[in-house]
Amino acid sequence: MELSNAAEARLRATLARCPRGLFTDIDGTLSPIAPTPEAAALLPGVANLLAQAGESFDVVAAVSGRAATDARRMVGLDQIMYIGNHGLERIAPFDGPDVQAVPAALPYVAAIQAVLHQARAVLLPRWPGMIIEDKGVTGSIHVRATADPAAAEAAVLALVTPAATARGLRVTRGKMVVELRPPLTIDKGTSITEVIEKRGLQAALYLGDDRTDIDAFQALRRLTAAGTCAGLAVAVLHPEAPMDLAHAADIVLPSIAQVPTFLRHVLHLATAV
Ligand SMILES: [Mg+2]
Repeated sequence: MELSNAAEARLRATLARCPRGLFTDIDGTLSPIAPTPEAAALLPGVANLLAQAGESFDVVAAVSGRAATDARRMVGLDQIMYIGNHGLERIAPFDGPDVQAVPAALPYVAAIQAVLHQARAVLLPRWPGMIIEDKGVTGSIHVRATADPAAAEAAVLALVTPAATARGLRVTRGKMVVELRPPLTIDKGTSITEVIEKRGLQAALYLGDDRTDIDAFQALRRLTAAGTCAGLAVAVLHPEAPMDLAHAADIVLPSIAQVPTFLRHVLHLATAV
């Protein structure tokens, strides 16, 4: 693994602390971006590396915009934590299939369904390939597989922004996806902060590739500055990665192809120290 000397030293110093956590996004970080959410699959060997990480990390968590059950279906491990819907849902290891949703999100489920219903009726006939996904406490509208993703995204925003805001929802954007969320200040950053504080983690790594992962990067920076936990943010670059992703990270991996090697290196160091 070719990291700069500074990055390698930072990684070693972080992993010297215990208890420690390994947090990772899924899509674009562990699985290459696919035309549709169902078509995405983890890189070979990655699930096995996460399973192994359970031996040297006190918390291993997949943190995703997907519903928690969908995140677990993709990774396929029972022994790790799943933080789904950008922090609004969680599945704890060995707790069985039960999803714990943030109670404050539940009153917005009906509003999300209403906006998605409207989007289906108006947008699907005009934009073949658009995928409208009801994820319970959030909703996603994917434009990647449409003939003109930029124009499709503009059409989605023009329709759903007023409809969603009228119902008190938030509208956010990811990679070729528009998302509807409850108006709660819960994101990947607040969610990992809660786990880190609750579990008293002294070190935490977070791997991510998208806008919503920057919230987690910034949370780690805050926890590190406060002396609560030594955080290390790892950006996984992609031609569609947001401009400020690398800037917000401590370590930058030039592509997802480096992720398995990086994880193996992390596990090697974590087992050695
Ligand atoms: Mg991602």
